[in-house]
Amino acid sequence: MLYGGYLWEAPLMNKRELAKFEKLLLAEHERLGGHIRSIEEASRYESGRDKGGDLSSYADAGTDSFDLETSLNIASGESHWLNEVTDALKRLREGRFGTCEGCEQPIPKKRLEAFPSARYCIACQEELEKNRTAFR
Ligand SMILES: [Zn+2]
Repeated sequence: MLYGGYLWEAPLMNKRELAKFEKLLLAEHERLGGHIRSIEEASRYESGRDKGGDLSSYADAGTDSFDLETSLNIASGESHWLNEVTDALKRLREGRFGTCEGCEQPIPKKRLEAFPSARYCIACQEELEKNRTAFR
């Protein structure tokens, strides 16, 4: 099986494995998409309710059961992951899935099974995280 001969000197995965990862990614895509929609709906409702309310009650909202800011942070984190998953699906269809974007070495399958949208191998990921400790 040839994958257009692109970066696939040693074929890493057969069709069945790719199909398995595609399934994992699609399930993740579905889950994240559904979660983001529900957060967005909740925050729309919440910000609608705040309009016209007096400012003192708005100031107290931080201690409310629904923390709009936290929820939106979660939603934005999840849309980031949704983008990652979408991109992984694209890489999969283009035959680039499973190759580290840092060192262009194959990403271990165990890592992909746990984290199918991984762009980097563990070494490159650790290197990246050292350089952006402020992230998350
Ligand atoms: Zn790497």
